[in-house]
Amino acid sequence: MKVGVPQEAAPGERRVALVPDTVSRLGEGVTVIVEPGAGVAAGFPDEAYREAGAELGDPWSADVVVKVAAPSAGEAAKLHEGQVLIAFLAPLTDADGVRRLAAAGVHGLALESIPRITRAQPMDALSSQATVAGYKSALIAADRLPRFLPMLMTAAGTIPPAKVLVLGAGVAGLQAIATARRLGAVVSGFDVRPAVREQVESLGATFLDLGVQGEETEGGYARELTPEQQAAQQAELQARIPGFDAVITTAAIPGRAAPKLVTAEAVRGMRPGSVIVDLAAETGGNCELTRPGEEIVESGVTIVGTTNLPSTMATHASQLLARNMASILGLLVSGGELVLDWDDEIVAGACVTRKGEGA
Ligand code: NAD
Repeated sequence: MKVGVPQEAAPGERRVALVPDTVSRLGEGVTVIVEPGAGVAAGFPDEAYREAGAELGDPWSADVVVKVAAPSAGEAAKLHEGQVLIAFLAPLTDADGVRRLAAAGVHGLALESIPRITRAQPMDALSSQATVAGYKSALIAADRLPRFLPMLMTAAGTIPPAKVLVLGAGVAGLQAIATARRLGAVVSGFDVRPAVREQVESLGATFLDLGVQGEETEGGYARELTPEQQAAQQAELQARIPGFDAVITTAAIPGRAAPKLVTAEAVRGMRPGSVIVDLAAETGGNCELTRPGEEIVESGVTIVGTTNLPSTMATHASQLLARNMASILGLLVSGGELVLDWDDEIVAGACVTRKGEGA
């Protein structure tokens, strides 16, 4: 069985779907074909892939193509019927992209659609990449703040610790809390899912009680708040946010625009020099003033709307993603042959297009 690893073409994307270390672990009967240069931006030169046993060449004719981002129209045209594609296919938001794959008769497995069951944890690329984004968001907050994060007692006086608020305590939010704590900040966290309070507290942070509680879906995600609940949350946050030096926002509802948590007025209430890092920028932002892909200063407050933070740590982000990919490939290979078991809930759950089912 052949696995193809193309060079990512999306602007700013530095990650690669398989790294050399993973290539050598895929087992007997699997040949990996890497597009020359595919790993360079993530720190993995062609030579490292060759040494791990991969071939360099055209990845698009392989039985399985593994990618980070969904293929562009041009890339999709290189795929053929019956081929398997594994990538972040954005099935809830990129209907055109999914239609293209369906029309080509490609078996599209979306990393976002892998069921979040215990057996699938090693395949959970949403979590692995959210871990990277959460960590980096705390570093960005620390870097942009004109203050220390930890408390310092020096001969020149005592510096109190910075106060950091993390909104949304899923995988990224919990990692942001842990990282900001390690840097010495006093951290508070909030999430609408009630189960999260304990996780926030176990990291040494305080759970900020906003008096707003949402529901959790069977898959563990938050349900969208009602307009009344959302207004109550915004008002409560507006009153609390001026007390914080940095706010990291990570709130998301799968397939929906990011919920607006921080209003323009709340930003105006913050002290000059404060920082907002908006991890939800890609889906519109949790802050009303966020400009996706930009870093701006409004009323003296820095608002970071950088998208695709995992790509800024491409080496480790790719390494974790590659392990996720290897686990998924392990499900699809039997005796060196590609075997798609549609009765397997992970394969069936991840599949967003299937040969023979048309557009
Ligand atoms: P996500 O990226 O979809 O959302 C981030 C967080 O935003 C979530 O915690 C959500 O509750 C929160 N949120 C949504 N609306 C909000 C609002 N208005 N205000 C504040 N917070 C809001 O979530 P995720 O990080 O992908 O994790 C979702 C869940 O899946 C978590 O419970 C996580 O523990 C669970 N999970 C389970 C597994 C597994 O069992 N295999 C693996 C990973 C994650």
